[in-house]
Amino acid sequence: MSYYTKIDQLVKAATDENISIGELTLKEEALNSGKSEEECYARMEKQLTVMEQGILEGLNSTAKSPSGLTGGDAVRLHTYAQKKTIGGKTIVNAIAAAIAVSEVNANMGRIVAAPTAGSCGIMPGAIISIMNEYNIDRKKTVLALFTSSAIGLVISTNATVAGAEGGCQAECGAASAMCAAALVEMFDGTPAQVAQAAALSLKNLLGLACDPVAGLVEVPCVKRNGFCAAHSIAAADMALAGVESVIPPDEVIDAMYRIGKEMPVSIKETAMGGLATSPTGKAYAKKILG
Ligand code: SF4
Repeated sequence: MSYYTKIDQLVKAATDENISIGELTLKEEALNSGKSEEECYARMEKQLTVMEQGILEGLNSTAKSPSGLTGGDAVRLHTYAQKKTIGGKTIVNAIAAAIAVSEVNANMGRIVAAPTAGSCGIMPGAIISIMNEYNIDRKKTVLALFTSSAIGLVISTNATVAGAEGGCQAECGAASAMCAAALVEMFDGTPAQVAQAAALSLKNLLGLACDPVAGLVEVPCVKRNGFCAAHSIAAADMALAGVESVIPPDEVIDAMYRIGKEMPVSIKETAMGGLATSPTGKAYAKKILG
């Protein structure tokens, strides 16, 4: 059983075979799982469907989470997106959709942890909004989710995707890298551009603290998912334009892991630092946790 554990290897293999990283990963998954490509594809398509359902659910609910910290912002943004906006419909819709899924998560709803529950809104938010806006083929989108999974596998093999281990750069950073990579593939970018999008996206989130108020995956998490959806779109556009990360993708991932190890525990999901220990953060924690 073998998977590609470096982004360099993924790019080389896909380029040599003249296929996309998504197609390559689907083949690998079939080989390693003993299932047919059709079965693997169908399983991934189910993930896409769950993501779509999460967006719909979140955009149709103004319910507050049990803690009262979050809820209602997806609807607010969706309504706003119908008017004149600064970022334009594409960006605002992606932010709204990402927050929708994160709000569903905060309400204990069904989401796809991609790669984690805390970062679950980023991929659906950007990928599904872009698929719908540009009428991108569903099959191409499902294959792009395989691309995301390949990037996520490399990150989790060489570093971490856990906020408790590497801070939010590991969770939302990884999700943004996975998302940007998928977007490039949906726009027919090359495997090298896919890798660059992942690197550019992750690089810009290095050092991001994980400091959730009251230890709940809500503040800053829910809104951060919206920001990171927009961030991923920016990274994908940069890569498609030919912008490259000076630091190669695999080295960016290694740097993320080192930074994660150097971070104090107070900003690694312990709620002992950052926003969690701000006066307002502490007041909310007292109110929620007693
Ligand atoms: S701040 Fe922490 S809990 Fe929230 S999304 Fe980031 S890593 Fe997850």
